[in-house]
Amino acid sequence: MKKLIESAVEKGAKALSEYDAKQLLSSYGIPVTRETLVQNIEEALAAARAIGYPVVLKACAAELMHKSESGAVAVGIRDDAHLREAYERVAAATDIALQGVLVQEMVEGQRELVVGLNRDPQFGPCVMVGLGGILTEVLKDVAFRVAPFDTAEALEMLDELRCRDMLDAFRGQAPADKAALCEALVAVGRIGLEHTAVAEIDINPIIIDPRGRIKSVDALVVLN
Ligand code: ADP
Ligand code: MG
Repeated sequence: MKKLIESAVEKGAKALSEYDAKQLLSSYGIPVTRETLVQNIEEALAAARAIGYPVVLKACAAELMHKSESGAVAVGIRDDAHLREAYERVAAATDIALQGVLVQEMVEGQRELVVGLNRDPQFGPCVMVGLGGILTEVLKDVAFRVAPFDTAEALEMLDELRCRDMLDAFRGQAPADKAALCEALVAVGRIGLEHTAVAEIDINPIIIDPRGRIKSVDALVVLN
């Protein structure tokens, strides 16, 4: 993973692509979507069949930081015909040279969180967790900790959230896997401590599925 970051820095990249960012997160045990980076429609069809419909398609490039704004995300793809149509659209959404197109599992779930890392000039790497989805900016329901911290501390972060009850059994959905969530928060802090080239991390969103499992469906790693 050090290589992945170093080579991006050498190329002068300002960020890792979503695919590379998730490889980094995954190497720290943070759950991410099952996904395959493809170069053409035939590979996309094979990947979608292997992952299983419904899938999500996204244009993937390090320079592509706000994908949905550019029309580079297609969710809820149900079958081959739908995939062919969405592939054309997503691959042509931007002039930026693509690393490829991402075919990823579609994660169901009504509960979304954001997890982030920032560097405070005084305190160093600082991990954030907050309510995700459309209300993120309105409610600003977030908790912060300076890394390193342990899972007990991470649990306290979750308890500080006003939306904490959402992490229990919620609208017929299972309680969120808080242990996994806490480990993810600790791991994000470790990435910050172990990779000084990482300026910022934005996992937006982590979706909690109806069975309570957590999965990062989007990730951005900004480099120094
Ligand atoms: P952006 O770069 O615009 O933030 P995202 O990858 O976050 O792009 O996709 C935009 C939105 O689409 C997400 O906030 C999420 O609601 C939804 N989405 C993206 N990927 C998935 C996925 N694999 N499963 C379910 N929903 C997804
Ligand atoms: Mg996002």
